[in-house]
Amino acid sequence: MYVGGCLCGAVRYEITGAVSNPCFCHCASCRRATGAPTVPWGTFARDAMRLTRGRLTEYRSSPQVWRGFCARCGTSLTYRHEARAAEIDVTLATLDDPTRLAPLMHVWVKDRLPWVSIGDSLPQLPAGTIAT
Ligand SMILES: [Zn+2]
Ligand SMILES: [Zn+2]
Repeated sequence: MYVGGCLCGAVRYEITGAVSNPCFCHCASCRRATGAPTVPWGTFARDAMRLTRGRLTEYRSSPQVWRGFCARCGTSLTYRHEARAAEIDVTLATLDDPTRLAPLMHVWVKDRLPWVSIGDSLPQLPAGTIAT
């Protein structure tokens, strides 16, 4: 089980089950949504994630994409793509213990900022694994 939440504590979640495709996303949309140059994500079964406190506010950032965040403090928490309705992506840095799940690849590297240098040997995909 994984537990996590937003900065202010108004939204808390727990996840049971395994992660897939943990990655750093360098896309311009994640960048703008979070204010960070790259964002670590993990994909879980949608029904494996459950809110234990508060609720997500969602913003439609692309025609099929809903980004979930805390309306009080703004922490980015989730990403849902309608083409992958059975899954949900969670920002791995919002886990209470983020050391438990490490990204295994970089995606959308074609959007990488020139002042971000990738210093690991993980695979680098020019675009996404499935969809934006
Ligand atoms: Zn919050
Ligand atoms: Zn992204």
